[in-house]
Amino acid sequence: MSRRILIAANWKMNGSFAVNTSLLQAINGIQIPLIIAPPSLYIASVRQQLVGTTLKVAAQNVAAEAQQGAYTGEVSAKMLADAGVSYAIIGHSERRQYYGETDALVAQKCQRLHEFGLTPIICVGESLAEREAGLVQTVVERQLTAIIDQCGIYALAQAVVAYEPVWAIGTGKTATPADAQAVHQFLRELVAKYDKNIAENLYILYGGSVKADNAASLFAMPDIDGALVGGASLVAKDFLAICHAA
Ligand code: PGA
Repeated sequence: MSRRILIAANWKMNGSFAVNTSLLQAINGIQIPLIIAPPSLYIASVRQQLVGTTLKVAAQNVAAEAQQGAYTGEVSAKMLADAGVSYAIIGHSERRQYYGETDALVAQKCQRLHEFGLTPIICVGESLAEREAGLVQTVVERQLTAIIDQCGIYALAQAVVAYEPVWAIGTGKTATPADAQAVHQFLRELVAKYDKNIAENLYILYGGSVKADNAASLFAMPDIDGALVGGASLVAKDFLAICHAA
């Protein structure tokens, strides 16, 4: 099957009301499926500015707790749904690395999103040490299986997976299209062991230093269904060029 392309912009902890508005004005009009993940403070404003467009808004994180209550600083899936957010990134390597998020916690977050009808963008990926030790498949399998075990395979019918090798994030080093394709194919085959149809329809994005000059060769791979873009999503002309490569 010829695959569709989806692009998600992970703004991380960048932006301001003024910067966001000018970026959105520059990229408005892109015709491919596009998701913007601003910092949570800006979600409502970004969403407001995207009314009438096909662009969707994502959160960069969600609370794992099932009930509202005394969890200072957290934002729940229920609140995201209330704010009209349709996606949330979970399991990003920066959350795993800097905030100690475990596979089990990421799976709980997935469960919360599922309960409120949000689509998780589930990030998986190995560190450089794990790649050098030949553990790429072991790591991504462990990360994705934790989600399947907790939420069930049918949760992946409404999910996006992003393969983001940690050593490629923000470093300027990209996995070669062939290396990325090998992991994407492995992930799709892993899901297919549970359900072929879900595997076939699953968006598996690549993330890690996606730029205008490498996007087209990544998107040409049979199991790469788009990109999760960090740094280059903050510069309108770079992001537009990536979208045009789709
Ligand atoms: P990068 O980030 O494009 O800046 O490498 C990607 C990501 O972390 O999602």
